Amino acid sequence: MDAGNREQTEGTAPSPTLCYGCGIEIGAADKFCRHCGRRQGSRVAAWYHRPAWILFLAFTVLGPFALPLVCRSPLLSRRMKWVLATVILLVTVVAAYGCWKVGLAMIESWKALVDELGGAGAF
Ligand SMILES: [Zn+2]
Repeated sequence: MDAGNREQTEGTAPSPTLCYGCGIEIGAADKFCRHCGRRQGSRVAAWYHRPAWILFLAFTVLGPFALPLVCRSPLLSRRMKWVLATVILLVTVVAAYGCWKVGLAMIESWKALVDELGGAGAF
């Protein structure tokens, strides 16, 4: 109940530090959660939970599959998670559209080539 109330008020204040595990507010310098005992902070966070790495992975190999990293990262506030997720999804859509257009262009040029070679005579 307590955690729920804190989550609702989160959007307004300069974002408080929340436990990676249970979501309860903790001190910014705490290395462990006082409630559930989970490790906290940027020092113990894995490299793939750092925003720069998440974006790098998203734009190179992972694409939309980087979204779970965004959700799980203890280094991002809820608002930053939304921003990153939106950016990744937008880039995914733009990239998918670009691939589709390139695919269409390749099919068109292939058709033109077949026509030039004599249409059905290619077979
Ligand atoms: Zn906790």
